[in-house]
Amino acid sequence: MDDILHNLAVIKERIRQACSLSGRSEDSVKLLLATKTVSPDRIKIALNAGETLIGENKVQELKEKFEDLKLIPHKSHFIGHLQTGKIKEVICYADCIQSVDRIELAEKLQRRLEYENKSIDIFIQVNTSYEDSKFGVDPDLALQLARDIKPYDRLNITGLMTIGLFSTEADRVRKCFQRLQNVQSQLLDHGFQTHEMSMGMSGDLEIAIQEGATIIRIGTAIFGHRIYPDSYYWNESK
Ligand SMILES: *Cc1c(COP(=O)(O)O)cnc(C)c1O
Repeated sequence: MDDILHNLAVIKERIRQACSLSGRSEDSVKLLLATKTVSPDRIKIALNAGETLIGENKVQELKEKFEDLKLIPHKSHFIGHLQTGKIKEVICYADCIQSVDRIELAEKLQRRLEYENKSIDIFIQVNTSYEDSKFGVDPDLALQLARDIKPYDRLNITGLMTIGLFSTEADRVRKCFQRLQNVQSQLLDHGFQTHEMSMGMSGDLEIAIQEGATIIRIGTAIFGHRIYPDSYYWNESK
């Protein structure tokens, strides 16, 4: 328990410093707890300490933890690759889907939401590192995707999400976040309300905040190392 509370305090301080360095107010950056593989008991420690936003990568995990966490007020975002076969479930448990990256997915979400008479917030996931291993729409095609999704009235496009390049070269990581920033300017110019910028993880949150992140997604630095490599969570076949 102590480790989580201590780690949260360290992250808050990193956020505070990064905001101060870039002349931003601290409350312009929201902390999302990336809780893949983390047990409900450990997640509760953070929620009881005042955190309000979690993100899961697998619909199965989102569902399994739902009952345990539902009495503590919080929002839950889906941040993993979403297969169309999981749509029905994800819309029962998630408040926002950060990983919409293709029109087929948007279309199927719309149909199911119509059927349930619901709507949901979505972010468009952009592949700013151009790595084949990462999902997301190509930055050059993001505006077109947003336009294609626009007629789907059950989907509120409220932000953009990206996973930066894993690299020790800060400049290359920064480029990714700048690409998302460019996509955002483009979309805002075209009237989209994509004000949320979900970017930055344990290793690169400072760069992300400097480049305009409004939501950073932090796992390891709060909950410790995971047994599975991230590729396990980002691979469609699993
Ligand atoms: C796991 C994960 C994170 C958090 O990564 P850490 O390096 O553990 O902070 C953020 N975003 C996504 C999409 C993830 O899968």
